[in-house]
Amino acid sequence: MPQTVDALVTPGPKEPFERRTVERRDPGANDVVIDIAFAGICHSDIHQAREEWGEALFPMVPGHEIAGTVSAVGDGVSKFKVGDRVGVGCFVDSCRECENCQAGDEQYCLKGEVPTYNGKEYDGEPTFGGYSKAIVVDENYVLNIPEGVELDVAAPLLCAGITLYSPLNHWEAGPGKKVAIVGMGGLGHMGVKIASAMGAEVTVLSQSLSKQEDGKRFGADHYYATSEKETFKELRNSFDLVVNTVAANLPVDKYLSLLKLNGTMVNVGIPDSPDNFHAFSLAAMRRSMAGSKIGGIRETQEMLDFCAEHGIGAEIETIGVDDVDGAWDRVVDSDVRYRFVIDTATFDSAS
Ligand code: NAP
Ligand code: ZN
Ligand code: ZN
Repeated sequence: MPQTVDALVTPGPKEPFERRTVERRDPGANDVVIDIAFAGICHSDIHQAREEWGEALFPMVPGHEIAGTVSAVGDGVSKFKVGDRVGVGCFVDSCRECENCQAGDEQYCLKGEVPTYNGKEYDGEPTFGGYSKAIVVDENYVLNIPEGVELDVAAPLLCAGITLYSPLNHWEAGPGKKVAIVGMGGLGHMGVKIASAMGAEVTVLSQSLSKQEDGKRFGADHYYATSEKETFKELRNSFDLVVNTVAANLPVDKYLSLLKLNGTMVNVGIPDSPDNFHAFSLAAMRRSMAGSKIGGIRETQEMLDFCAEHGIGAEIETIGVDDVDGAWDRVVDSDVRYRFVIDTATFDSAS
């Protein structure tokens, strides 16, 4: 029998959350039933629910940074057992056959991976995300959260963590490499921690110096305010890699000018309108402009293990289920330090 579970539902674009219930499917042979303990709030939740990236599916239960405990498994499940600490990220299925799925890059599935929410399973059923008490997911799309990382600080790793780990890994951040992280919000602060643990020399480029002490504590070697004109002059031709986590359009040419010969600017922030830049900014130093989207299942597990090994979790502010609308406004105002995480135990308290 499908299970009815508590969830936070937004009925339409820009509508406040309501406590309601959603149906979770009866677990199939390969399914894992997860009691969700914590769900992170990603800026992508807001972009989608406010239709900043185009039309969305409603009613919507956002949430793709999920951490919890296995409460039941199907007969065919071999990777997980009841009681295991697990996570779910941005997708819950993919075609498993295309060249990208075969290579472990399921996030670039050619058929289109099934998003954790605001999407449809291949059988047409809508998907509902992590702002909820429980979820049912095929074991191949479930991650193991290693001992040593608490579930609350682990939740944001499932999107923010992997979204930074994957490009840092791909473009080989490490000793001898100079990496700049643009924007120190949910994604950015994970980028500082991970790039620093990889051994790179890390610089934060933030709008102001207000979070400088935190940045240094997360492992940044240098911290600059982009509001200061001198910053761009001083850092010209400096970086091997600039990772841009900002959700708004930036003056891209100025940021490209910070790359040294052969340097790459990777965009992980996704503004709602196109960026503009001059080809000369690339040609001048054989620079590259790139983008990156989350990470595959194997790489996400590698990232979780890396974080456990290096004692890395997200810096979080834990909130109750009735606080989400206010938290979203604070994310939009860049007033987040550094990820909001919803404690789903608060579904059980009166509203
Ligand atoms: P966030 O917590 O809001 O962080 C974004 C940061 O960007 C802010 O904290 C702020 O940092 C800076 N910023 C905000 N507005 C700015 C402006 N107008 N000019 C310059 N800097 C500004 O958001 P997030 O959850 O990290 O997500 C960031 C973006 O990544 C969103 O677009 C999201 O949809 C996208 N995303 C992409 C992927 C992917 O796979 N590619 C995955 C997850 C999220 P400072 O105060 O330090 O300047
Ligand atoms: Zn996300
Ligand atoms: Zn595929």
